[in-house]
Amino acid sequence: VTALDSGILVLTGGTGGAKLVRGLERALGGAALGVIVNTGDDLTCWGLRVSPDIDSVTYALADLLSRERGWGIEGDTFQCLDQMRRLGAPAWFQLGDRDLALHLTRTELLREGKTLTETTAEIAKAFGISARILPMSDDAVETRVLTTEGELSFQEYFVRERFRPQVKSVRFIGAENATPAPGVLAGIASAAAVVIAPSNPITSIGPILAVPGIRDALRWTDAPVIAVSPIVAGAAVSGPAGDLMKAAGLPVSLEGIALAYADFLDVLVADSQDVGAHVSDSQIELLFTDTIMRTDDDKLRLAQFIIAVAMDRHRKVMVG
Ligand code: GDP
Repeated sequence: VTALDSGILVLTGGTGGAKLVRGLERALGGAALGVIVNTGDDLTCWGLRVSPDIDSVTYALADLLSRERGWGIEGDTFQCLDQMRRLGAPAWFQLGDRDLALHLTRTELLREGKTLTETTAEIAKAFGISARILPMSDDAVETRVLTTEGELSFQEYFVRERFRPQVKSVRFIGAENATPAPGVLAGIASAAAVVIAPSNPITSIGPILAVPGIRDALRWTDAPVIAVSPIVAGAAVSGPAGDLMKAAGLPVSLEGIALAYADFLDVLVADSQDVGAHVSDSQIELLFTDTIMRTDDDKLRLAQFIIAVAMDRHRKVMVG
């Protein structure tokens, strides 16, 4: 029995976050882990409902995630994609052959009238996952990226255009009328610790925070809120987080991450490469450790570090 019986709740996108979620599951066990996942990148592809970040988290927890690609299933093939291309279908968003089974299942469950929360739970159960995976909302929220070449969906910007167009701004259509998925607010309120994964602060964590109620729940929870920086040595570890932060007027640095989460963040876990850096908000405790997750051991070690920080904070709260 640990001080973390009420569990760790993670807010995440699909790449950096999925790796940490896998580490936390190994360190803690699935029963003590909840994950709130960005759905702003969701899309319909070939008539199928795809939730890229939920898929990555699901595959990570089922130990199916491709290590080399960081998305989709390890060792998957792409014969259906080749055939779709021959038929003239858009082929820039790659769905693997085995991966299709998940999207077919989700699409069918949604068509039967199940919510995305129910659908996600049913698929997780079929994969034998004991952690709780929750979409941020059952309502549609669509991340749109305004670039110098026009407004694009997140996947058009990220996958089709390989985040080359210059970003002017980002908006989340539908967010203001969305409701947090069942369990999200209660989970934040009752968690022993909340972890903001090393995910894109603008297009992965941003949409989650844009759902009314979630940001307030983070401000009000008694649980410590601990973020892992996706920015290391002044640049994103991968992907367009740097460009997107610049477009949002944030410096591409630990300071930028601290500013993005200033109203609710207690601890910022930064990479050892940044030792010596500081953030101007004295309310935020800055800690350094190795945060680059290449191997399963890297993921486990970072997870154990975060759990130790959470337990330490928890003890301080208990002692007063
Ligand atoms: P997305 O949904 O694919 O955008 O995935 P996320 O938002 O979860 O992850 C993307 C972010 O993760 C990027 O900003 C990267 O800088 C960061 N990232 C990826 N791998 C790592 C890692 O191993 N360590 C850290 N600290 N950050 C990472």
